[in-house]
Amino acid sequence: MSLMGFAKVVLKNLFTGPVTEKYPFVPKVYPQGARGSVNIELAKCIFCGICQKKCPTAAIVVTKEPKAWEIDRLRCISCNYCVEVCPKKCLALDTKYAPVTITRTTDKFSAQPVA
Ligand code: SF4
Ligand code: SF4
Repeated sequence: MSLMGFAKVVLKNLFTGPVTEKYPFVPKVYPQGARGSVNIELAKCIFCGICQKKCPTAAIVVTKEPKAWEIDRLRCISCNYCVEVCPKKCLALDTKYAPVTITRTTDKFSAQPVA
């Protein structure tokens, strides 16, 4: 790049904001339609297990007794298939990603109160 070209870039950058985002200090705005994490509305779930059977990565485990629905977020590829096949429409794909984790844990939602 010539000196003139370089000076042009420097001047342009002086009068425009940075292209980078100040995450995590400025909350991320996720675009509409972004594929984030799967959420469940447990009160509507009938624990039929269809989402578990259809999930291509075996991220979901459903138990009838005790009634529980769990998801391994590190396995989920946000394909939306479980949302499409759920007969009660109690699953939804959020635009936000699941929080960062360094340990392999599953998010468990139980219909019974935790003792
Ligand atoms: S398919 Fe829907 S209703 Fe059936 S267990 Fe999964 S979340 Fe619950
Ligand atoms: S979005 Fe896809 S990978 Fe994630 S739990 Fe649902 S079916 Fe499985």
